[in-house]
Amino acid sequence: MSVTPQPYTFSQRAQKITSSAIREILKVTERPEIISFAGGLPAPKGFPVDAINTAFDNVLRQNGRSALQYGPTEGYAPLRAWVAQDLARVGANDVSPEEVLIVSGSQQALDMLGKLFIDPGSKVLVESPSYLGALQSFSLFEPAYQAVPTDLGGLIPKGLTDERVQDARFIYALPNFQNPTGTTLNLERRKALVQRCAQANVPIIEDDPYGDLRYAGEDLPGLLGLGRAAGATVIRLGTFSKVLAPGLRLGYIVAPRPIIAKLVQIKQATDLHTATLTQMAVYETIKSGFLKTHLPAVRELYKQQCGYMLTAMQEFFPSDVTWTKPEGGMFLWVTLPGHIDSNELLQRAIQNKVAFVPGEPFYAGVTPQTNTLRLSFVTVPEEKIREGIATLGRLIAESGTGLKAA
Ligand code: PMP
Repeated sequence: MSVTPQPYTFSQRAQKITSSAIREILKVTERPEIISFAGGLPAPKGFPVDAINTAFDNVLRQNGRSALQYGPTEGYAPLRAWVAQDLARVGANDVSPEEVLIVSGSQQALDMLGKLFIDPGSKVLVESPSYLGALQSFSLFEPAYQAVPTDLGGLIPKGLTDERVQDARFIYALPNFQNPTGTTLNLERRKALVQRCAQANVPIIEDDPYGDLRYAGEDLPGLLGLGRAAGATVIRLGTFSKVLAPGLRLGYIVAPRPIIAKLVQIKQATDLHTATLTQMAVYETIKSGFLKTHLPAVRELYKQQCGYMLTAMQEFFPSDVTWTKPEGGMFLWVTLPGHIDSNELLQRAIQNKVAFVPGEPFYAGVTPQTNTLRLSFVTVPEEKIREGIATLGRLIAESGTGLKAA
């Protein structure tokens, strides 16, 4: 049998990309009959459509020609200044606008940082489990992952052994309401982490898309401020995706100037700059304190949603299942009895019209814990949360007795 030669050859890098587990699941969960806890989408109810509409309108009417022009790669100066000042809220008081680079969502920042730091085989430290989208970005540059152990309190600084940190290009850390687990790093661990990284010369990438969405407990200082005080190199990623809307595709990187300078070169080659109109409209939206009134409503909504899910799990999940209790953000993490494989559970869940993301793809550099899964609680209405969790509880219980779901 003859094989038709392909009229193109993909790069080896492209050939190594496999399709994301989440994308594959989302295809199924787009079906309207499925109750999906799988997506990572913020609740559209929280999007401030009117405020954004007014801002775009004002910018175009008052400044239309510059809003539609090319702009500097570093970003729109007033927005950079706003970000620099706003960081005082997370305990970084002395950030200069020149240390801020505006990007097209923090996902772009992850790709750019991969380009900046990773050669094939470079050691990269990641929490175990970690954000799947970051693993996807970094993996294009073929790092050797080292998994840093975590528990219910997030990353365990004592796990940063000499052997692990030696020659690491960076550690990727998610201190607030982590994706996927929903866990938060306490103050003591934050301090221990930055001190250890300062001493071992390992830069920290602090990814904090959910920090503003705290609905329980106390705000904690970010790694950026703590790290600067301890002499660590911290690169902080922020985004407007969760506080305004992800369709804006707007985020930022905060880093020491020499790192920003290199990232500017990388971004220039990628997309010249982030959309001028969007940057100006977001600045217009937030410049007079809009987030102070908007965020409490989003937090209240997410708190309620989280409560619905926790109540339903308490009622319907078998007693040998455990889960995290997030103080903010959009996700929680479920640990099933060791003999249940969540990939297999997902197949049965989809047959029963419920979806979630199995834990396996969130692990890198370690054997995945296949008895885990991620649930998103922000977009599904209360009655559907109850129905979906009741179904999952039944399927889990049936796995325990060896029965198969109908
Ligand atoms: N980091 C984390 C931890 C995320 O959960 C997400 C969004 N799911 C991103 C980065 C990317 O966000 P964006 O590109 O919309 O800023």
